[in-house]
Amino acid sequence: MLDPRLKYLSHKQVRENVWDLVLLPFGATEPHNLHLPYGTDIFQVEEIGRRGCLKANEKGAKALILPAIPFGVNTNYYQIPGGLTPGLKPSTLLAIIKDVATALSRQGMRKLVLLNGHGGNELKPFLRELFDELPLFIGLIDWYKMAGDLCKATLSEPGEHADELETSLMLALRPELVNMAEADDGTPVPAKVGSINKGWVSVSRPWHLATTGTGIGCPHKGTAEKGHALLESSSERLAEVILELAQVPYAAGFPW
Ligand SMILES: [Zn+2]
Repeated sequence: MLDPRLKYLSHKQVRENVWDLVLLPFGATEPHNLHLPYGTDIFQVEEIGRRGCLKANEKGAKALILPAIPFGVNTNYYQIPGGLTPGLKPSTLLAIIKDVATALSRQGMRKLVLLNGHGGNELKPFLRELFDELPLFIGLIDWYKMAGDLCKATLSEPGEHADELETSLMLALRPELVNMAEADDGTPVPAKVGSINKGWVSVSRPWHLATTGTGIGCPHKGTAEKGHALLESSSERLAEVILELAQVPYAAGFPW
């Protein structure tokens, strides 16, 4: 079975195949508590995407995954002491999506899936921004939402950033990059306005004030075993979605 990652394929391999669908993964480069690498979101989304494509292709799809966009939207991270977050504005991300989608559609591709792995990348409004502009279907999968029930069933408590979920995944994926002894508890610092803590008001949180070590959610119950289980179940579900999208022929109005 061919590697579904375009980064690893030769031109000969690419031109000898007809592709049903292309996935464009989105990561972020940002601090993840004190024990995980800055590239955590990239490692996760690329691996779940790779496994999802491979599993779908084994059942007859022809899905290809592009290299992940390494920078995400995290304009609220810039004041973290000692941090270095090369982030993008939402409008820049939209420009990237538009360019990639245009390039793919000019080459005959008709189905594009945005596979998002970073909470700060809110991509849904972009689907409306680009709606009907190109002869190309664009779908969005926030993988952690697609696998929300699987995460809930596997993990002991909910978290948000560099938490039990991300720690488990990295212990499974790249254990040599995880230093559990350094992990902060990930207890968020409440805002002075109570309605914000209750979720009644949405704000872009100043991450240097809202966290003590950039994590939100306790990482200590993370294990490699949970990580392996979630990589497997999440990519299995992604494969199901890819296969379905690949098998319905494209026509105007797709997927209706
Ligand atoms: Zn993350």
